[in-house]
Amino acid sequence: MYGNYLDDAAKIVAEKREANLKFEHDRLTAEQKDDLLLKFHPDRIKEQFTELKIGPNKGQKAPIELAEMLQAKPRYTADQIDLNHVDYETDVLVIGAGGAGCSAAIMASEAGAKVLLATKLRPGDANTMMAEGGIQAADKPNDSPAQHFLDCYGGGHFDGKPELVYTLTNKAPSVIKWLNDLGVEFDKEADGTMVTTHGGGTSRKRMHACKDYSGAEIMRTLRDEALNRPDSITIVDFTAAIELIKNDKGEACGAVLMNVETGELRIAKAKVVIIATGGAGRMHYQGFPTSNHYGATADGLVIAYRAGAKLLYQDSLQYHPTGAAYPTQILGKLVTEKVRSLGAKLINKDGEVYIHPLETRDVNASGIIREVREGRGVENDVQPAVWLDTPMIEMIHGEGTILKSIPAMYNMFIKYGIDIRKEPILVYPTLHYQNGGVEINATCHTNVANLLVAGEASGGVHGTNRLMGNSLLDVVLFGREAGIEAGKMFKKIKQTETAKMTLKHVTEFEKERAAAKIKGDVVSPKVLPTYTHGNTEFEKAIPGASTCPVKKAAAPKAAPAKKAAAKPAAKKAAAKPAAKKPAAKAPAKKAPAKKTAKK
Ligand SMILES: Cc1cc2nc3c(=O)[nH]c(=O)nc-3n(C[C@H](O)[C@H](O)[C@H](O)COP(=O)(O)OP(=O)(O)OC[C@H]3O[C@@H](n4cnc5c(N)ncnc54)[C@H](O)[C@@H]3O)c2cc1C
Repeated sequence: MYGNYLDDAAKIVAEKREANLKFEHDRLTAEQKDDLLLKFHPDRIKEQFTELKIGPNKGQKAPIELAEMLQAKPRYTADQIDLNHVDYETDVLVIGAGGAGCSAAIMASEAGAKVLLATKLRPGDANTMMAEGGIQAADKPNDSPAQHFLDCYGGGHFDGKPELVYTLTNKAPSVIKWLNDLGVEFDKEADGTMVTTHGGGTSRKRMHACKDYSGAEIMRTLRDEALNRPDSITIVDFTAAIELIKNDKGEACGAVLMNVETGELRIAKAKVVIIATGGAGRMHYQGFPTSNHYGATADGLVIAYRAGAKLLYQDSLQYHPTGAAYPTQILGKLVTEKVRSLGAKLINKDGEVYIHPLETRDVNASGIIREVREGRGVENDVQPAVWLDTPMIEMIHGEGTILKSIPAMYNMFIKYGIDIRKEPILVYPTLHYQNGGVEINATCHTNVANLLVAGEASGGVHGTNRLMGNSLLDVVLFGREAGIEAGKMFKKIKQTETAKMTLKHVTEFEKERAAAKIKGDVVSPKVLPTYTHGNTEFEKAIPGASTCPVKKAAAPKAAPAKKAAAKPAAKKAAAKPAAKKPAAKAPAKKAPAKKTAKK
């Protein structure tokens, strides 16, 4: 029960349910899809994008909010950071402990590398943990990697890099096997056969799932595997990379890390650096709510860009069609595509099925925006929306299906009195995924030597639209590829001499900024989102409330930087622990390992 005006609105849907269930909406033609996207997709709103004035993608467009970060001031100028005190010396530095980062760390460790896994929050505080619907792989007899390739390449509007799509689809079955062997509890039939279902844009049933918490199950397994290798993988949590370090030959050779609780800086030196920092939902492009975890702020793109790495499709975002639109408490939370795979249809306020529920995500998101804009949306006091008719699921598959197949969805809504077995739910697009990122090749190399990128921070795998289930696949698959590649590379690369480590690229970037007359005091990477409640009267009444406490802890920004500039001694203070341990290698690794173990 909605217990308000929405109960009457939902009645219209209930009355037409039987008929709607029998009615199959035609798929849209290619022309109809193009027209819908052109008129209604947020990526097509020109005023929401701006031209990049500096950097490797100069002249190309990016969302306004991302462009601001890519062209913002570095948090510290090069001369405020002392590279002479190395805190961590390692073979492979992996930045970000989500699905891609943990997979990379495991495979590099497997190859004999010493790995430092630095992550902004706790390991597994990541979009991977939140994934619901499943992971694709063509491993059933009626399917093939070639078929999977066609779906993925076509679903991405033929914009994907063919070598990446080829690798993704051909190696997919081996990823499922690897995860299964590591202990992921996939949904299986009584005889052990994997259960597979459809997702939007898939021509075969190839979605493997762990109910509707697939990501949590995969992340749990990968995180455990990484934690269980303390001899070769050192995990440093609550630590964000805020700058890459290069050597005199322009190769990546480490990163400047910042403790997000204390603001202290640490220097990590490595032979190979892997960025696996995930997405950007918390940038709230165009003011959209997001399904993403708290740390999804595009940091990897920013630090890679400043170091000269090219981006691809940085202007292409995925707005998942079914974000929760009611009640306020769950605005933007994901309603997994599995709900539509199981048969729930999208319905407008007049009770009409206005589109096929399994059109690709960009098409369905545009369809919802059209219905709302043209007055066929369901008005309410949170976010005008359309219905997703969830009770259809049990009419098709029988009583008990919802609790068995999508328990997380049931739990998300029942907390607010809405029983999705009996009532339809309100949905509107939510900012879900960044289709683009740092351009890579099939072995995860970027155009910056010794810098690899994997997972949602990379661009090119999904073209300009990702299909459901291909991201979990991408992060594990290319995370593994990056780890395997780093495992080969580190043996051939000599550790950069400390004296040759440099942040010259940061200084050059600042010069480019000045030459392009880019003004403003905004610093990047963002590290954590800044939320205030926007009620200045309330903020005045509570000391310190005007700055969100997380923001205070995370962003030393101007103040500490100025201090450091004023007193050269402060520069050394930033690298204090290293000063205590000149031979940083062994002890520096022990300390964070203990810290992680305590948590
Ligand atoms: C709600 C939801 C449901 C989804 N469902 C599905 C699904 O069913 N199937 C599917 O295929 N895909 C799904 N996706 C997409 C998919 O889960 C993600 O794209 C993917 O997991 C991203 O993995 P990743 O390793 O690249 O990034 P993440 O898993 O986000 O990991 C990135 C890590 O990097 C850390 N980090 C970020 N910045 C820094 C920094 N500066 N320094 C250090 N560390 C940093 C973060 O804290 C995080 O730990 C879903 C996404 C969401 C949000």
